[in-house]
Amino acid sequence: MNLEKIMSDLERKNPGEKEFLQAVREVLETIIDVVVENPKYQAASIIERITEPDRVISFKVEWVDDKGKVHVNRGYRVQFNNAIGPYKGGCRFHPSVTLSGLKFLGFEQIFKNSLTTLPMGGAKGGSDFDPKGKSQAEIMRFCQAFMSELYKYIGPDTDIPAGDIGVGGREIGYMYGMYKKLVGEHTGSFTGKGRNWGGSLIRPEATGFGAVFFAEEMLKTRGEKIVGKTVALSGFGNVTWGAALKATQLGAKVVTISGPDGYVYDPDGISGEKIDYLLELRASNQDIVKPYTYEFPNAQFFEGKRPWEQKVDIAMPCAIQNELNEEDAKNLVKNGVMVISEGANMPCTPEAVEIIQEAKILYGPGKAANAGGVSTSGLEQTQNAMKLNWPAEEVEEKLHQIMKNIHEACKKYGQEEDGYINYVKGANIAGFIKVADAMIDQGVI
Ligand code: NDP
Repeated sequence: MNLEKIMSDLERKNPGEKEFLQAVREVLETIIDVVVENPKYQAASIIERITEPDRVISFKVEWVDDKGKVHVNRGYRVQFNNAIGPYKGGCRFHPSVTLSGLKFLGFEQIFKNSLTTLPMGGAKGGSDFDPKGKSQAEIMRFCQAFMSELYKYIGPDTDIPAGDIGVGGREIGYMYGMYKKLVGEHTGSFTGKGRNWGGSLIRPEATGFGAVFFAEEMLKTRGEKIVGKTVALSGFGNVTWGAALKATQLGAKVVTISGPDGYVYDPDGISGEKIDYLLELRASNQDIVKPYTYEFPNAQFFEGKRPWEQKVDIAMPCAIQNELNEEDAKNLVKNGVMVISEGANMPCTPEAVEIIQEAKILYGPGKAANAGGVSTSGLEQTQNAMKLNWPAEEVEEKLHQIMKNIHEACKKYGQEEDGYINYVKGANIAGFIKVADAMIDQGVI
């Protein structure tokens, strides 16, 4: 099997889709040995089939702003692979959304969902709509317009979307409301729903919680504990606040958060009322990073910079893809970072990952470390199907166990001869085998 030949075929079929091709290369590089050693995967052309989405849906979204002006955005749903369960993956609303980006995320989602041990296939969707600066009514109209097309392709046993960047509880509410009206059913075909209408406790915090649990498991492999460690987080969205909350609860000190314009360093730690304050700013759609320093003057704002220049024990990029580059990785390694646990999807560039792994730093890739979100979405689906709600402690306990299981699976397939655990390799192989075997069992369809 020739990796470069496969990649050049994919480049020809998917011209200019940089992010998607980057994600595929990263996965193939780590699973190629498994494919070579198992002729059944080659005989069934699993690589060719798993890198081609089952379906790409692209549609026009027309909506009217508060001044009566008509806008047109593009909506997408990439249904990548449903070998082990119905399609499942978030929706992203951000001006940077492209088909390539969603294909990368949908592809990654296949392996992530497989790792969770729950029956979920891989998908991703979204739009280039920018929710920033829009009124509540504009957001509602956009979500309704988006769903007026998407509803045809989703359902509780078909495809279950969820939130992602720019899509939180409010947007899910508007989309689910429209879905419910159009199909005439109150079925759990969305996760991240409101608490009073089918949502699960802990879901909003789950991705951040899970990424911290994963960091804790990684530390344990070196006989270390999370208590007393310093943590750099980036962003301050759904994932970051959950990570800040859990890291603080477990006795670590969170010293940074960030936004597109720079980052804040707070030597006293970002916890308790400070997290509540940030959440208030976020809920009111205001800038949050710089204003933090007005309220807490011991903190410093670093304009145009990223948190990775600070000396910390644990770094958790939780904002956006490619937000931690080669230079950032060198800084972290130089400053003695012990663990990097990715809350976001593909936040470290391939060059950064190489440096981190060469330095034998414990590195949990997003598809393993941030799988807590989709895992808890799976738990939300289970509660919906059973028509009951579990208490927060029960959901968190299940989430914690799933993260431990994911860590074990990564360790099983990723441990190298010198004892270093290559979590990228482990996650890719563990995720791949289950999906590939299911595809073989189900035949060529
Ligand atoms: P949110 O939109 O809630 O938060 C994103 C945060 O990142 C915001 O604070 C945003 O600031 C900030 N940000 C955006 N661009 C940059 C940048 N260039 N530098 C620094 N900060 C930036 O998204 P989520 O928290 O939901 O998602 C974050 C990441 O985690 C994404 O990669 C997502 O795919 C991944 N993920 C999310 C899951 C979930 O459950 N939500 C599950 C698994 C993965 P501002 O608002 O000012 O733009």
